Amino acid sequence: MLNLVLFGPPGAGKGTQSELLKKQYDLVHISTGDVFRALDENSDLAQLAKSYADKGNLVPDEITIQILESEVQKHTDINGVIYDGFPRTTDQAVALDKFLDKKDTAVTLMLSLIVPEDELKERLLERAKVSGRADDANPEIIKTRIANYNKSTAPVAEFYKNQNKLVEINGVGTIEEIFDRLIQAINAR
Ligand code: ADP
Repeated sequence: MLNLVLFGPPGAGKGTQSELLKKQYDLVHISTGDVFRALDENSDLAQLAKSYADKGNLVPDEITIQILESEVQKHTDINGVIYDGFPRTTDQAVALDKFLDKKDTAVTLMLSLIVPEDELKERLLERAKVSGRADDANPEIIKTRIANYNKSTAPVAEFYKNQNKLVEINGVGTIEEIFDRLIQAINAR
C-alpha cells in the first residue's frame, strides 16, 4: 500500500495536491478538515469540532484519531491513502503508526510542503472569498492557526524524519510544478 502523509501549514496546498495525487496513484484522499466539515451539523460531534476549528484551534486528539480511523475503515481493497491534515500532533502520529501496523502496513512517506508565512496568509485570505470558511476570513484566526501549526504540528515532521520518511518539497510555484516535485519524490522511493 502507498500511504502518503501530505504535510504543511494551513494554506500550503495540501488539498489541491492531494486531489492530483489521488488521480495519479489511484488513492483514497482523507482530509480530516473535510471530514469535520462534512459531519451532520446538528450532531454533538459536529458542534464540538466546529467550536475548535472556527477559532483556529486543533480538535482534541482523542476525537480526531477516532474519526480518522473510522474514515479509513470505510474503504477496503485500496491501493493506499493520502492523509491530508493528519497527523497534526505527535500523539496522532503515534496512533496512526499503531493503527496501520495492525493492518500490516505503514506510512510510506511524509511529503512536507514548505511555504513562507507571508504567502500562506495571502493564500488563505484569497481562499476565504470562495471557501466560505470562517477560519479563513479572519486574520486573527489565521494567526492562531499558524501559531498552533508551529507549536503542535511542526514537530510531527521530526517524528517522520527519525523514521527516514520525511521529504521536504518546495511549495512555491505553479500547481503543476509542485505536483511534479511531489511525483519525483514519490517515484524515487
Ligand atoms: P487547513 O489545513 O487549511 O488549516 P483543514 O481543512 O485541514 O485546514 O482543517 C480545518 C480545521 O479542522 C483545523 O484548523 C482544526 O481545527 C481541525 N482539524 C483538521 N485536522 C485536524 C487534526 N488532525 N487534529 C486536530 N484538528 C484538526
